Amino acid sequence: MSSERLFGVKMRASQEGRHVSGAERIVPASRVAQTLAALADRALRHSKGEPDFINLKADAVGEVVRIPSLPVSTVEVADAAEGWARAEEMLKAAGVARAREVCGLFRETYSMRGAMLLDADTLERLEPNPERGVRATNMDSAVSSPANVKNHFAEALVLASKVLSAPGIVGEVCMSDDPNYVTGYVATRRFGYCRITKLKEPGDEAGGRIFLYRGRREDVAATIDYLERRAVVVETPSPDANAAPRRFDSLERELSEIAAAGLRRETRMVSSRSGCHIAVGGRTLVSFASNDYLGYASDAEVAEAAADAVRRHGTGSGASRLVTGTLTPHVGLERQIAAFKGSADSIVYATGYMANLGTIAALVGRGDVVLSDALNHASIIDGCRLSGADVVVYPHLDMDALDGRLASCRAYRRRLAVSDGVFSMDGDMLDLPRFLEVCRRHDAFSMVDEAHALGVVGATGRGLSERFACGHPDLMMGTLSKALGAEGGYVAGNASVVEYLRQRARPFMFSTAPDIAAMAGAAAALARLDGDPSRVRRLQANVRTFVAALAENGIAAKTDSAIVPILIGDECEAMRVSGELEKRGFLIPAIRYPTVAHGAARLRAAVRYDHGEEDLTAAAAAVAAAVRQHDD
Ligand code: PMP
Repeated sequence: MSSERLFGVKMRASQEGRHVSGAERIVPASRVAQTLAALADRALRHSKGEPDFINLKADAVGEVVRIPSLPVSTVEVADAAEGWARAEEMLKAAGVARAREVCGLFRETYSMRGAMLLDADTLERLEPNPERGVRATNMDSAVSSPANVKNHFAEALVLASKVLSAPGIVGEVCMSDDPNYVTGYVATRRFGYCRITKLKEPGDEAGGRIFLYRGRREDVAATIDYLERRAVVVETPSPDANAAPRRFDSLERELSEIAAAGLRRETRMVSSRSGCHIAVGGRTLVSFASNDYLGYASDAEVAEAAADAVRRHGTGSGASRLVTGTLTPHVGLERQIAAFKGSADSIVYATGYMANLGTIAALVGRGDVVLSDALNHASIIDGCRLSGADVVVYPHLDMDALDGRLASCRAYRRRLAVSDGVFSMDGDMLDLPRFLEVCRRHDAFSMVDEAHALGVVGATGRGLSERFACGHPDLMMGTLSKALGAEGGYVAGNASVVEYLRQRARPFMFSTAPDIAAMAGAAAALARLDGDPSRVRRLQANVRTFVAALAENGIAAKTDSAIVPILIGDECEAMRVSGELEKRGFLIPAIRYPTVAHGAARLRAAVRYDHGEEDLTAAAAAVAAAVRQHDD
C-alpha cells in the first residue's frame, strides 16, 4: 500500500432488520470510491436476499499493523457431536477448561450483532454491551481480491487472524448463522485456524462468534479497542496455498443443502443376511430391499461354484477381455446366457450399468438417434448421453408417441429405441409386442433392459418374450446381479450385434474382464433356474399374496413384476414411513429424488421367493399402519 492516507471501507446490508451481508477493506484514499461501489454491488447481489438497507462507511484509519495469517487446517467429522468434541480438545489445549459449555452459548449469540467476549476461565461475559457484543473490524487481507466478490474462507481467516493477534485472546469459535452451512472453525494459537466440517446439524439457525480472553480485567478495554479499531492487514497465504480449503467449500455447502432437503443418502452396513432376513444396525429385519429375487446370492451350491472357480482360476482376471482376460468361465457363461435367452450369442460386462453404458454408446453416436422411455434406468440415460447421438425421450410406455417420433427420425443413420422391460422404480412392464412392431416398422434397433425381468417374468423366468409369447428385441440386456444373485451384466442378440459390441464396446475393451467368482456364481444360478423354475412360480405367487394383502389393508399397489411401489409423495414422509416400518421389523426402503421425480417419493418393496406368507401379510399390515400413523 502507498503512503496515501488509508481508509477502512465497510458495508453492512440488512433486510427488515436482519443481517444479509457485510464486508470491509482497507484501501488508500484513491480507491475509496471504487471500493464503496463494489461493496454496494456485492450487497445488492447477495444470495440471501435483496437488502432494504445498505450502510456504507469509510473511516480514515491510523497506522496499520501487518500480521501473518494463522495456519489453516481442516478436520473432517461425521456429525456436530464429533465436531464439538474436536473443538473442545483444541480449546482445552488452549487452557479453556469449560470448553463444553461454550457450545451451548451459541443459542445466545444468534441474536447478537457482534461476538461474545468471555473470560476463558470463568466464562463470564466481558463486553460492556452484551446485546451488541464486540465487533472485530478494520482489517483486510494483504492479498487483494475483488471487493464485489465474496471469498468466505479468506475473509474468515483474516478475521480470525486479527482476533487471535489481540492481546489476551486465547481462542475463537465461529459458526455461521446460515442454517444450511454447517462448517465452522476454532482458532487458537497452537492449532491455528481449524475448519471443522460440522459444528451444527443442517437446519439449525444457531450461529455467531465467541472470543475467549485470559488476562486482567483492567486490560479488557484495550483488547476491545484493538479488535474494533486497530487497522490490521493480514498476510494471508497466496490463493494457491489456500486452494485446498476453498475448493472444498462448495462441496460442503452442497452436502448441507442435500441434507436439509431430506435427500441425504447413507450407506448402511449389513452385518449378515440369510434368505430374506438381514441384520442391520444390530437388528434382524425381514428385507424387502434386495434384488436377489430367487435367493441365489446366499445359496450354498452357488457359493461353492463361485469359490471353486476362484480356487481354479485365481481372483482377478488380470487383463481386459481382448488381451488375456477371457477365461473359460466368461465364455461358458456367455454361451449359457445365449441358450437360455434363445439368441445366437451374448456378451458379458462387469456390471449391468456398464452393459447399458457400453452397449448404447457403441451402437449409436453422432448422426444417430436414440429414443428412450422417460422412466428408463439411469444407466440407460447415461449411455444415451455418453453416445453423442441425438436423444429423444418419449413419454413413459407410450408406444404411439414412440411410433410418431420414430416416423420423424428417418434421416438418421441409425435409430435405436431402448426401454426398461420392467421399470425398476414402478414395477410396470413394457408392452413388448407393440414395441417390437413399432421398431421393426421404422427399421430401428430395439433394445430392452431385462434387469428385473430375468428370473421373474414369464412362466420359467425367461423374461418378456416368454411372457408375451412374442419375438426377441435385437438387444436383450440383463444383469447377473439380481435374480442370478451375482454381479455383472449381459447383452444377448444375434451374431453380428454381439460381435459388433466385442469390437466397439469400450467397457469390454478397456476394463479388466468381469470377476471370475461372479461368472461362476451366475452360471450356477442360471443352471438351477434353467433346470427348475419352481422358485419363479413361488416368487410370482408371493407377489400376488403381497399385493392382495396390501389391498385388504386399504393400500393400493400394483405391479407386473416383483417390484411393488407404494406411492407416498413427500420425501420426508416417505422416510418417516420407512423408518416406522423398520421399527416394526421390516426393511422397505424409501426411494427419493433423484432416483424418482421430486414429490414422487415412494416405498419400494421387492418381493422374494423365500418370503413366507406370514412375512407378506404382516408386512402389508405394517405398511398400512405406518402410513396411517401420520394421517391420524
Ligand atoms: N438396469 C436396471 C433397470 C437396473 O435396475 C439396474 C440396477 N439397479 C441396472 C440396469 C444396473 O445393473 P447393475 O446393478 O448390475 O450395475
